[in-house]
Amino acid sequence: MASHIVGYPRMGPKRELKFALESFWDKKSSAEDLEKVAADLRTSIWKQMAGAGIKYIPSNTFSYYDQVLDTTAMLGAVPPRYGWNGGEIGFDIYFSMARGNASVPAMEMTKWFDTNYHFIVPELGPDVHFSYASHKAVTEYKEAKALGVDTVPVLVGPVSYLLLSKPAKGVEKTFSLLSLLGKILPVYKEVISELKAAGASWIQFDEPTLVMDLDSHKLQAFTDAYSELESTLSGLNVLIETYFADIPAEAFKTLASLKGVTAYGFDLVRGTKTLDLIKSEFPKGKYLFAGVVDGRNIWANDLAASLSTLHELEGIVGKDKLVVSTSCSLLHTAVDLINETKLDEEIKSWLAFAAQKIVEVNALAKALAGEKDEAFFSANAAAQASRKSSPRVTNEAVQKAAAALRGSDHRRATNVSARLDAQQKKLNLPILPTTTIGSFPQTIELRRVRREYKAKKISEDDYIKAIKEEINKVVKLQEELDIDVLVHGEPERNDMVEYFGEQLSGFAFTVNGWVQSYGSRCVKPPIIYGDVSRPNPMTVFWSSTAQSMTARPMKGMLTGPVTNLNWSFVRNDQPRFETCYQIALAIKDEVEDLEKAGINVIQIDEAALREGLPLRKSEQAFYLDWAVHSFRITNCGVQDTTQIHTHMCYSNFNDIIHSIIDMDADVITIENSRSDEKLLSVFREGVKYGAGIGPGVYDIHSPRIPSTEEIADRINKMLAVLEKNILWVNPDCGLKTRKYSEVKPALNNMVAAAKLLRTQL
Ligand code: GLN
Ligand code: ZN
Repeated sequence: MASHIVGYPRMGPKRELKFALESFWDKKSSAEDLEKVAADLRTSIWKQMAGAGIKYIPSNTFSYYDQVLDTTAMLGAVPPRYGWNGGEIGFDIYFSMARGNASVPAMEMTKWFDTNYHFIVPELGPDVHFSYASHKAVTEYKEAKALGVDTVPVLVGPVSYLLLSKPAKGVEKTFSLLSLLGKILPVYKEVISELKAAGASWIQFDEPTLVMDLDSHKLQAFTDAYSELESTLSGLNVLIETYFADIPAEAFKTLASLKGVTAYGFDLVRGTKTLDLIKSEFPKGKYLFAGVVDGRNIWANDLAASLSTLHELEGIVGKDKLVVSTSCSLLHTAVDLINETKLDEEIKSWLAFAAQKIVEVNALAKALAGEKDEAFFSANAAAQASRKSSPRVTNEAVQKAAAALRGSDHRRATNVSARLDAQQKKLNLPILPTTTIGSFPQTIELRRVRREYKAKKISEDDYIKAIKEEINKVVKLQEELDIDVLVHGEPERNDMVEYFGEQLSGFAFTVNGWVQSYGSRCVKPPIIYGDVSRPNPMTVFWSSTAQSMTARPMKGMLTGPVTNLNWSFVRNDQPRFETCYQIALAIKDEVEDLEKAGINVIQIDEAALREGLPLRKSEQAFYLDWAVHSFRITNCGVQDTTQIHTHMCYSNFNDIIHSIIDMDADVITIENSRSDEKLLSVFREGVKYGAGIGPGVYDIHSPRIPSTEEIADRINKMLAVLEKNILWVNPDCGLKTRKYSEVKPALNNMVAAAKLLRTQL
């Protein structure tokens, strides 16, 4: 009986890779230093899995930035603007594509399926010349082998790679990405041949797009691709790995008939219907990699339940063909529970991070083989029972209030145009009002103050004094820059979700439960383990303090219920919507308290609304309905004169525009600068709706400083589609990852551009 892990987190248990990357980018350390940290991390991960008894250990799931970008490098598909002249792609070109450089912006980044991980979107056109330009997969395989670990090299599958790409500029409408299949397969063949020559006996292709609603043309591409690769793959065991949802019946049929494939991996945590497909039509003689251990969450597996599922599957595919696996890469969960020294012991007993999931996978495999570790299984059963019955999980009053929300509607009484008129009387803003999205740069000094306060090394008074000073600095700076609607800069917040989680009941938080978001950026999702309520106001003190420092409007800054939900590890013992309604009620109390404290503009960030959208179309309407309802619950009780903003990070809005409008916010700011003209249709809808719209005028993910002309040009493009009286001018997201040396000139140019255009309108 065998065990397998789909993929493993790269950052390291204490974010070692993050610090090494950032120090390298800041030119504080050398490429060799970075390579050394990376190699040490890979070594320890491989040894850990080997030590735990995992049979199929992945390699090439490490990445300096992103596995899709690694594939772009492997294929030599570097967009011409990065000036690559051939040869093996090094850090220079690689990080320029990822992050931009002084003269060229970064490639577009977007969310990986419905996770909070972002990948770098390949840009492909008819002229790309593919060549084998990064030997990383082979190098890593050999590296593990030299350590005595024979791994399963993992590649992003050729069809998913193309389906996740976007057509290069100029050919957006006309170009079929799948037409490139014949051109990339020769590179895949070279890689496969080298892996074989190096001794690999298994290979894993991640083809997660198979869980999407694909038409027959796209499904055909899988058949074509693997037929073409068949002869090169011969002699290897080939695993096609899918994850994140149920696999549609059509895709399952395609998969089952692929040439040269010996094994299939399925997510059996989210894919509950996949189980039925396996039962009725799993192809004879193939391996089933059964993803029963959840890679997307932090809950300990219900081992008894998994074992019974596995027993059933064993009856279908045969004892020697069943492999116990994770539902997806463990990239999307926290790294190691062992570093959680501050977590409550009872809650801790309910959890398993990546390192613990490896042990669970192996324990299940051993149990199937008749070597059940009784002590391990009974400790697990006891923890499951304690979670079910613990009084800290249930709050009757909250359950009742949330249940009462279902089926009812919550909306502001007046329509948006009338509200905006009422608000303008109070706020008296110029046309093209300027604002920012919330956070200002988080300096080392600021982080130190927060850390020391948390560790009780400085007193509450000193902490408040320091944060007040910081807010005052940020307020003064915005006044100097002549920004119209100010923010307090969020200096008291580590993270926009953790900050709220820490103050709500029903949430627990970790010290090292980091998950990669993009590049070196990690988030530390809170754990929602119980019913949610708000014991005390969370932001009123800081927002009203900030408002007292200026005569200009100060935005109150909240994280909305859907984002709190989507960026947390959510309990798996009740439906997501129930948890979301509970958070909505807590945020509603906060909104109303801010209003009472004299805050007239309140931004409720729903950065993660889109990413909670189920992957399968059949499930989307239900999600959007409760998600948007939750948002409206938070602010349906405010006066007309209170202006509700919402902010959303980059995502494909086109298909959810009606839901965004249905949120009924007064002003919507959205990330835009990386997504080119795609959002135009969204803006047009916005015009009809009448709310204010602030599509980001520059990219905050890059250190590059945009010029006044460039910003003015961008605003002009927006004005071609949008009425001038609804357009807001703002960066495309919060500024906390930037430096003041970047933020000051960028905002200065942004305000100058707005002023310039005001004189022309
Ligand atoms: N208000 C948040 C900030 O500025 C929004 C961040 C986000 O959308 N991711 O940091
Ligand atoms: Zn954002």
